[in-house]
Amino acid sequence: MKATVLTQFGAPEVLQYGEADTPTWLASQMLVRVAACGVCGHDLLNREGHFPDTQTPCVMGHEIAGVVQEVGALVTGLAPGDRVALTQRISCGTCPACRAGRDNLCRSGPGFYGEQISGGYGEFVIASPRNAVPLPANIDLDIGAILSCAVGTGYHALNRARLLPGDTVVITAASGGVGLHTVELARLLGLRVIATTSSARKVDLLREVGANEVIAAPDNQFHKAVRELTGGAGADAVIEIAGGPTFGSSIRSLAVGGRLVLVGNVQPGNVPLNPALPILKEIELVGSAHALVSDLRRIVDLVARGVVKPKIAEKLPVREAARAHALLGSGSAGGAGGRLVLTHG
Ligand SMILES: [Zn+2]
Ligand SMILES: [Zn+2]
Repeated sequence: MKATVLTQFGAPEVLQYGEADTPTWLASQMLVRVAACGVCGHDLLNREGHFPDTQTPCVMGHEIAGVVQEVGALVTGLAPGDRVALTQRISCGTCPACRAGRDNLCRSGPGFYGEQISGGYGEFVIASPRNAVPLPANIDLDIGAILSCAVGTGYHALNRARLLPGDTVVITAASGGVGLHTVELARLLGLRVIATTSSARKVDLLREVGANEVIAAPDNQFHKAVRELTGGAGADAVIEIAGGPTFGSSIRSLAVGGRLVLVGNVQPGNVPLNPALPILKEIELVGSAHALVSDLRRIVDLVARGVVKPKIAEKLPVREAARAHALLGSGSAGGAGGRLVLTHG
């Protein structure tokens, strides 16, 4: 098959368009012809060699939508020609995490696209009825590609934050691909949304998608402003999409009993943490990984009914994946914000 291949770890130029092996599938799986694949910060880290399960050469890309090409003999409920969006991981369905409904944490299945299994920068991927959600006719495949990661990740994180309508949530890196959709979803859930961004140019955009308040903080210091906006109390939760650059200010933004939900990690490495803060305020640090297949089903339903409007910043052919990485890495993707999407064909 045609694919953009990660030939070695390094700068965007290591992504090269050429031939790769079409993945083989089991009787319980299916082959999906990829139509579109989103590009996220996780891909930049994967390309640089931060994930131990990735071995080059590798076909990256975990934000996938396409059309079922062939189904194994044991597959029911899906047939060739069906349009599907996929979650980031194929789970096993039987391990303790899967049985608890936490398929995003499965470590026994085929694995994560672009790491353990061939990803959406290639023409074909394998999939399972456990990670494929049918797309109704009114959702384009380009949009379908960004529903699991760019939209579902924020939805999952908001659920992990255990918020009630009327609660205050701070969303960091809010003008990025995940951030914009998290702001939109948080407002839909009836939360008071404080969005933070390092770019003053993104303030109007963030208000348009639903932020009640926007703090433009080029120095990543926003906790004082959050306290002012909350009468000194602080926020009930922070959805931390940036990671290291904002961590210190995020934890200081929380009210007593608040939750810091860790989602993004743009600068791998350690963060400074004074244990006194979580102790004295009973602050909880909560991890949030990707999205469940049940999250993706919910997002597909919300998008099909026009309640959520996913945003694509720019579309590029998959052969230009290196350029997409360079654009994302420099923060200069075009359009009115949203996800970069690579298209096949
Ligand atoms: Zn992603
Ligand atoms: Zn499992």
